[in-house]
Amino acid sequence: MSRKFFIGGNWKCNGTKEEVNKIICNLNEAEVPSEDIVDVVISPPFVFLPLVKSILRPDFHVAAQNCWVRKGGAYTGEVSAEMLTNLDIPWVILGHFERRALLGESNEFVGDKVAYALSQGLNVIVCVGDTLEQRLAGSTLSAMAAQTKAVADRVTNWANVVIAYEPVWAITTGQVVSPAQAQKVHKALRTWLAENVNADVASTTRIIYGCSVNRANCKELASKADVDGFLVGGASLKAEFVDIIKSATVKSA
Ligand code: PEP
Repeated sequence: MSRKFFIGGNWKCNGTKEEVNKIICNLNEAEVPSEDIVDVVISPPFVFLPLVKSILRPDFHVAAQNCWVRKGGAYTGEVSAEMLTNLDIPWVILGHFERRALLGESNEFVGDKVAYALSQGLNVIVCVGDTLEQRLAGSTLSAMAAQTKAVADRVTNWANVVIAYEPVWAITTGQVVSPAQAQKVHKALRTWLAENVNADVASTTRIIYGCSVNRANCKELASKADVDGFLVGGASLKAEFVDIIKSATVKSA
């Protein structure tokens, strides 16, 4: 089963108007594989979404970095899925480990958000990952299974879901994850999907990798069978993001 490569650029809480224009100008001029080969989705902070959407090349798309768990209303500071669809923002990142860890988002809360965002027509990049404590305790898979189960319990149609595996233990310790280690976890997650959701979802759902992906390591990571792309943090703000997009050709070669 061939899955289209997927590259997400998560800018997190970074950027000024000037920087946004510079990054997008660089992306717009880049020669990259066509949309048939790779989906490219850029995720600036909320306030820059309309600007980025208005100047970004049409073959790239945009994502919000979060949205509220249900219909909007008296939820100060939140942005609803309805607002995103109203602005034609097609994607949203949910369950990023920074929100799970810093803002206390539970597995169930993230699962509810995923289900609601999908119900409103958004495509979702849902992040799962293991902390240092979980890794040291040998519970990497059970931690990710619990996070994925909270989604599986609430979602029946996985067509618009991309799963991003982020080894939190590596991000927080600066340790390097080898492509072989990434492949092992992606394969285990796909097996979990086959056993707990179904074989079709397991073979069609894109599982992308996110931890310190850069121009130097992207090609080897992309060559791994169960790595279907990347969620890129820091490097998505730099010119090397174009090289990371180009790593999609490793899969299509
Ligand atoms: C992230 O936290 O989503 C991430 C992958 O960041 P970085 O690429 O900077 O490690």
